Amino acid sequence: MEKRQKIHEGKAKAVYSTDDPDRLIIDFTDTATAFDGAKRGTIHEKGRLNNLISALFFEKLAEAGIPTHYRGTLSDREMLVVPVEIVMVEMVVRNIATGSLCRRLPFIDGTELEPPLVELFYKDDSLGDPLINDDHALLMGLASREELAEMKRLSLAINDALRPYLMDAGIVLVDFKLEFGRYQGGLVLADEISPDTCRFWDASTKEKMDKDRFRKDMGKIEEAYQEIYQRLTRLKGD
Ligand code: 5GP
Repeated sequence: MEKRQKIHEGKAKAVYSTDDPDRLIIDFTDTATAFDGAKRGTIHEKGRLNNLISALFFEKLAEAGIPTHYRGTLSDREMLVVPVEIVMVEMVVRNIATGSLCRRLPFIDGTELEPPLVELFYKDDSLGDPLINDDHALLMGLASREELAEMKRLSLAINDALRPYLMDAGIVLVDFKLEFGRYQGGLVLADEISPDTCRFWDASTKEKMDKDRFRKDMGKIEEAYQEIYQRLTRLKGD
């Protein structure tokens, strides 16, 4: 597999073409951003850890029959994926109320949400990724009604697959953001699933083990990402 030119530079990842038109390489960097790019920094080893943690999740989801863009891990920081057309709707699944939900609505921080809540956000940093509903997405031509229903179904199926897996590692899956892409006439999970895109709390201490440590300047960020990776690899070894 020959890595060719950079075709996209995101906030934390770069995408490269390859000699195979059906394969791209995602390069995970240590750049960290928050608040739609307003806060920037570097988290040592983040690229490596997010790449390897995402790979573990994508493998778990493949076992659960969920289609993803993941096709392999090439190196510590490089993931092999299929090319997709990203749907400009971010799907957020919440098991516990926190973050923007508690700022927008009178949910008490830490309350369990049963059934889990699925929210849609328009993927546009310049607008601050605003909350939208299915009707907005349809009128803006972001996705079809069928695609929106499928993204919701897959989002909940991903939650069902990852929650018990993480709980086995003593980690509570509080909430997470997903991005989907169009590939060969269907939808597949794209982007990454990592401490950058999820909230993970330690099951016994409720300590934050994710990007909230960066957002809130809590320190011990690399240690938290490392701990997630170590617990998941230990689980794999059992
Ligand atoms: P909230 O809406 O509470 O800020 O975020 C809900 C969940 O989705 C959190 O796990 C958060 O990390 C994730 N999330 C929402 N929007 C984004 C985004 O634009 N980028 C990243 N990396 N994660 C996001």
